Amino acid sequence: MTYDYEAPESQKLFDRAQIVTPGGVNSPVRAFRGVGGTPRFMVAGKGAYLTDADGREYVDLVCSWGPLILGHAHPAVLQATSAALLRGTSFGTPSEGEVALAEEIVARIEPAEQVRLVSSGTEATMSAIRLARGFTGRSKVVKFAGCYHGHVDALLAAAGSGVATLGLPDTPGVTGAQAGDTIVVPYNDLEAVRTAFAEFGDEIACLITEAAAGNMGVVPPLDGFNAALRDLCHEHGALYISDEVMTGFRSSRTGWFGIDGVVPDLMTFGKVMGGGFPTAAFGGRADVMARLAPAGPVYQAGTLSGNPVATAAGIATLRNCTPDVYDHLDRTARTIAELASEALAKEGVAHRVQFAGTMFSIFFTDEPVTDYAAAKRQDTEVFTAFFHAMLSEGVYLPPSAFEAWFVSAAHDGAAVDRIAAALPVAARAAAAVGR
Ligand code: PLP
Repeated sequence: MTYDYEAPESQKLFDRAQIVTPGGVNSPVRAFRGVGGTPRFMVAGKGAYLTDADGREYVDLVCSWGPLILGHAHPAVLQATSAALLRGTSFGTPSEGEVALAEEIVARIEPAEQVRLVSSGTEATMSAIRLARGFTGRSKVVKFAGCYHGHVDALLAAAGSGVATLGLPDTPGVTGAQAGDTIVVPYNDLEAVRTAFAEFGDEIACLITEAAAGNMGVVPPLDGFNAALRDLCHEHGALYISDEVMTGFRSSRTGWFGIDGVVPDLMTFGKVMGGGFPTAAFGGRADVMARLAPAGPVYQAGTLSGNPVATAAGIATLRNCTPDVYDHLDRTARTIAELASEALAKEGVAHRVQFAGTMFSIFFTDEPVTDYAAAKRQDTEVFTAFFHAMLSEGVYLPPSAFEAWFVSAAHDGAAVDRIAAALPVAARAAAAVGR
């Protein structure tokens, strides 16, 4: 594919980056391998907009992959983090901000009776799995194909997100023992989960699922699916872990838990709760969390866990995520999705829009997408053409057909108008594929 626009400064930076960093990026999906072309190196973000090294401005529909729910450089976050910075960057001791952030989370999310702060979603899921194994004395983990829980060894099998984008079958470097302890089942397939529990029930420590899947594109759980998973776990003495790293404080004020009300044993959080800084958490039942060091024997720690600047960003973000913000996100997401759908329909491009609360994505297929196999049947070439036309028109979409689109409180009428102006061009580019 050729592109009708250039990004010389980004290309120069990418050339430099590829010399010193594998693939030129610090997280694979940023490299544009799923869509080709030059990854944009960004120099600034403000509200709903990103500016790249070539001085081009984009309406951002990635929002740092979810965290920036208030938009780039939100004044409350800047003020809180600047004040925290002036007091010192890291203490390596307990500090008040950690308590306040944990209190914010516990107050909103009833099943999170206690939380432990960590620095990334990966750490949160890794630690939750270890805790589940320590609590149950069992080793096996059930996960779903197409769900991504970070790059934890045990959870990389058939993972979504960058693993899906790059079409990696499985990852070298994960030992046979780790892979052997992971049971992968199709998403939304309760029969397959029942079969796994029937066969391995007394060896299963936990089942982990994205509360609503967002890493193969957005695929919400079918009605009753999460509740049935929890029941199956409990019948077999396993823990039910709901990964809300993406959905937490995003799909609603209380995450996906606020939408389906299924009470998990453990939960994981990240993204929004860090307000653009590296903070994440896992939490849940107090009796399970009590097994964690120093209260209990399961070890878990972190030099920068509960960092005072990061916790200040998290607190400012959560406190500014008012019900009005969620109404705005909901309306804006639906408006953008409808505009995209109208533009694509007008050009006869097969597509489906799928939502999980305020998160959504568009699949380039005409079949409903309820699992990873269906997500993979979409036409990624059509997505690629659509993506590049949007980019060229000044709208930054996730550079992969397998990622969720995110809006923020800063996506106002002007931002939506820019997207609306770009969509017909992108829909025509999508329709031209294969003609
Ligand atoms: N869990 C889910 C559901 C995610 O979407 C992600 C990241 O996208 C993670 C875990 C890992 O989080 P992090 O990238 O902060 O390690």
